[in-house]
Amino acid sequence: MSALATAPAPAAAPARPAAKPYRLAAHPGRPATRPVRAGDLVFGGEAIVVIAGPCSVESREQILDVAHAVRAAGATVLRGGAFKPRTSPYDFQGLGETGLRYLAEARERTGLAIITEVMDSEDVDLVAGYADILQIGSRNMQAFKLLQRAARTGLPIMLKRGLQATIREWLLAAEYVLAAGNDRLILCERGIRTFDAEYTRNCLDLNAVPVVKHESHLPVVVDPSHGTGHTHLIAPMAAAALAAGADALMIEVHPDPERALSDGKQSLTPDAFADLMAGLRPRAHALGRTL
Ligand code: PEP
Ligand code: MN
Repeated sequence: MSALATAPAPAAAPARPAAKPYRLAAHPGRPATRPVRAGDLVFGGEAIVVIAGPCSVESREQILDVAHAVRAAGATVLRGGAFKPRTSPYDFQGLGETGLRYLAEARERTGLAIITEVMDSEDVDLVAGYADILQIGSRNMQAFKLLQRAARTGLPIMLKRGLQATIREWLLAAEYVLAAGNDRLILCERGIRTFDAEYTRNCLDLNAVPVVKHESHLPVVVDPSHGTGHTHLIAPMAAAALAAGADALMIEVHPDPERALSDGKQSLTPDAFADLMAGLRPRAHALGRTL
C-alpha cells in the first residue's frame, strides 16, 4: 500500500456559506432587515410607511390638494415627479425646479416628507436641495455614475427595480450606492416586463420581497401602481405586498385621474386612497405591523 493511501484524510474545512457578490447588501449574519431612517421616518421598522402622491407634479394646486388628502388618510411621504422619464420625448416631461418648489411648499404645509426622482447626475444637487429621499427610477437602475453621484449626497435613496432587471442585478446596483458610502438605501419593487401585458402593465414580482429579505438587510417598498397599471388591481396587490413582507407602499394618487398628465389609469382618487388605507390597516395589524 502506498504512503499516500494510508495518510490520514485532511480535516474537513468548516462549511462556510459562499460569499454573496453584493457583499454590503447581504446579511452579515442571520437574515434581518436593517431599518433606514429618513428624518422622523423609519423604513423597515414596525410601521408600514406609505408614500403617496401623483405621478407628476402638474401644478401648485394639484400637489397641495393631493398632499393634504394623502396626509389626512395616513400617508407620511409625498411623491411626485418633477423630472419625468417619459417613453416619448413629446409627452409631459415634468415642471423641473418649479415642481420641486411646489413639493417643498407641500412639505411645509403638511409636514410630509418628499420623495422625487432624480434622472441625471447633473440634476443631483438641485434635486437634493429639495428632496428628503431621492428616487432612482427603473430606467436608471443601472446608471452607475448616477447611483454613485446620488449616494454621495448622503440622502436616503430609493432604488426602483429595472423593468427587465433580475433580482441579482438589482442587488448589485444597490451595492453601488452602499459601496459609495451611503447605507440609507431602500429598494422598490415596481413590476417587471413579462409576456402578458393585456391585463397588467407590468408583472408585480412579489417573489422579490421575500427573496430580497432573505438575501439582504435592505428595506423593501412595493409600488402596485406601476406594478399593475390599473386602479382596480392596486388594493389586492397592496394587501398581497404587506403579506409578502413589504416595509412600505408607494401609491399614485391624483385629484382628477382622467385628466392626469401621466399615469392616470393607475392613479387613485383621494377618496379611493382613503378607502385603500382603511382596508389595509387591519391587515397590517394582523401582520404585527402598524399603518
Ligand atoms: C415613478 O415612480 O414615477 C416612475 C417613473 O416609476 P418607474 O421608474 O418605476 O417607472
Ligand atoms: Mn408614474
